[in-house]
Amino acid sequence: MSISFITYHYIRNSNHSTFKPYARTVEEFIMQVEYLNKNFDIIDPNDIEKVQDCLKSNKNKGVIFTFDDGYKDHVVASQILKCYGVRGLFFIPGKVIEGKELEVNRIHLLTYSGISCEKLLSRLETTIRKEKMKIRTQDKACKEYVSIENYIQELINDNGFDNGYTLAIKRLLQRDITDSTERAYAINELFNKLGDELDLHEMKTLYMKNTDIEKLSVDGHAMGPHGYNHVWLGTQNEKIQSQDIELSIKALENVIREYIVRDWYSYPYGSFDEETIRLMQENKITFGLTTDWGEAHMDQGRYRLKRWDTNDWWNNEKKMPKNPLAK
Ligand SMILES: [Zn+2]
Repeated sequence: MSISFITYHYIRNSNHSTFKPYARTVEEFIMQVEYLNKNFDIIDPNDIEKVQDCLKSNKNKGVIFTFDDGYKDHVVASQILKCYGVRGLFFIPGKVIEGKELEVNRIHLLTYSGISCEKLLSRLETTIRKEKMKIRTQDKACKEYVSIENYIQELINDNGFDNGYTLAIKRLLQRDITDSTERAYAINELFNKLGDELDLHEMKTLYMKNTDIEKLSVDGHAMGPHGYNHVWLGTQNEKIQSQDIELSIKALENVIREYIVRDWYSYPYGSFDEETIRLMQENKITFGLTTDWGEAHMDQGRYRLKRWDTNDWWNNEKKMPKNPLAK
């Protein structure tokens, strides 16, 4: 049996959410749970032995629901799963446990608030030039820096104007402004300058509280760390990766029973490299989940398991999964 890990982002009641491009509605989520519960074996992520067996054999298909980032929305999802007698797997970043906002969500708020991409990018370019920030090239293996003009031009050449602009904003702020302090500064600058146009209330109510996390655990759902600072681990050096992973484990250990914290790990943005894998072994993590899309088998390696993204695998019109998950 292979396992289809399905990952969800925001699950919202309202169609007016700023985060709509990534969101599923509660109704869509229920529809998917019903379908999967009826047609597939939904596996309890706490049952590590069964997970091992399923990943090794080649019979029917199992499903595990996964949720990254610790959103308040996931509390609703957990209650729906509970109604069906099913357990989910929730990945919570250390920063969220400690009550801080993730940059990824601040960036989503900036890019989906209706402010034009040109305006955002031109503000960002001004800050990058003024502060002489260094920009990483798109090619991960290449350690050289590029000018902001060339960086943007390359993305526009590959993706067209609209997508190129959006990608430039996201990647610069998430990853490609080389220095993490400078990245945080650039995001703060945009928030300061454009704050009036942003729905800051969305951010205040975005994440679970620690009491929510405890409740999830009491309800029998499984949990795992999802980085501390929620950075692209695969682009960081050994020391930063090691610190981030250890901090993420400790933060979760402070909220839930210690012995289950190391069963699962999900890499933020799905980013990892050989060093990340080594650190998973060193920290005695059982399974690591990526965001490479597909079914998970043990032959991928226990720290490189594939997943599906709900926004990619579910056909909303036919109300069933697209191939190849469909039986
Ligand atoms: Zn994440």
